Amino acid sequence: MTASENDHLPEDIRSSHDSTRYALLNDLLQAGWLRLRFPQPLETEFRYNHAVNSARVFRSTVFYVLLLYLILGLGIMYIIPNETLGQWPLGYSLVALLILGGVVLSRSPRLHQWHQHYGAALAFTGMAMLTVIPQFTGAPVMKLAATIGTAHAAVVIGSMLGLRAVPAVVAMWGGGYLGMAAVLMAGQDVNWLLTHQTLTAGCAVGSVVAWLMERQSRQVFLQQSLLSLEKARSEDMAERMKEMSRADALTGLANRRHFDEVLHLEWQRCMRDGASLSLLFIDVDFFKPYNDEYGHQAGDECLERMGEILADHARRPGDLAARYGGEEFVVLYPQTGPRSLEQMADKLLRAVADEGMPHGHSSVADHITVSIGTACIVPEKTYSPEQLVAAADHAVYEAKNKGRNRVYNAPVKAAD
Ligand code: GH3
Ligand code: MG
Ligand code: MG
Repeated sequence: MTASENDHLPEDIRSSHDSTRYALLNDLLQAGWLRLRFPQPLETEFRYNHAVNSARVFRSTVFYVLLLYLILGLGIMYIIPNETLGQWPLGYSLVALLILGGVVLSRSPRLHQWHQHYGAALAFTGMAMLTVIPQFTGAPVMKLAATIGTAHAAVVIGSMLGLRAVPAVVAMWGGGYLGMAAVLMAGQDVNWLLTHQTLTAGCAVGSVVAWLMERQSRQVFLQQSLLSLEKARSEDMAERMKEMSRADALTGLANRRHFDEVLHLEWQRCMRDGASLSLLFIDVDFFKPYNDEYGHQAGDECLERMGEILADHARRPGDLAARYGGEEFVVLYPQTGPRSLEQMADKLLRAVADEGMPHGHSSVADHITVSIGTACIVPEKTYSPEQLVAAADHAVYEAKNKGRNRVYNAPVKAAD
């Protein structure tokens, strides 16, 4: 499963998936993994990754393979007398065309995921042709030179084409010995000692190199997967820490620090827009006697319920309900004028009363009630956000004085 597929999973499934993956990647890395196969679906992920990465590398190396091949060919033609070359230049050019085919195919990013397939097919064909070509040369010295070419080709296939070990081995051994079979079937003499010194030895070296390279790719893949998992984890953790530093642990509402930040931001925004900024200050009535009567635990539960009710009354984008401290809460309403504010305050007062949380030690009701102070302002430079809070706080004080379980609105006063 890729990172983006993983993104939309529910958090608990994602984190358990991540932990299993983390453990698996770690185990594989520590095991040194000598076998060239991961458990599924990791193997599929690796193969796709490897195909695309090695195709990108192949795109630049194949050009050098072609260059090297041409230089080698020109060198041979320069050293060996023309009459001994026989049909060799033709065969050699055909293989050059195959490499050129590789150059062309590697240019298309859409074919990157098929790199192992076309790479192995071209290598197989090239290997078969290179094994047959010596039979079409003129003199023994040329035959020898051409046969040595098969050893070089096998090493190049194992090291420079970005093939995994299995396709590389199939291409070099399969192609090479298919060529030998063709030679035998054509009734030609085969010098087996020379064949083993060149083709077999080259294939053996090429196979070991291909195996070592795939092992290294697998280790790099495991390390990179672990790294990206760790990166995602620490980003997740940082995000959670950030959220926690903004939230009040008991009610889940914003905490006071976050409220202060948002208050300043909204103050600026409303000042720019010439819009009203409204604030509710809410204090639970007779909460100390409530705690004393029902216990701290019940007090906490009451505050949690208050948190839910407040969150229900801050639903528009930009609204923010926060716990200001103890049994005091605030709700900030940007772009909201006095009339809407009054309605919101009345609604909230009623919602708390309707909740009917029993309170035997309140002088105003037989259930939990709140006193709400409201203040509203179109922010301007001569005022500060703190004055809006002070006004709402003062309004609560007035609401308490006037008998609690009510809303009181206070004007925002300018600083002296
Ligand atoms: P008033 O009607 O004038 O507001 O009276 P009050 O009793 O509500 O006000 P007071 O400020 O005297 O008491 C507030 C109480 O809130 C005191 C404290 O024990 C309680 N309190 C503050 N924070 C918490 C909390 O997190 N959990 C619980 N259970 N109680 C808390
Ligand atoms: Mg209080
Ligand atoms: Mg109180």
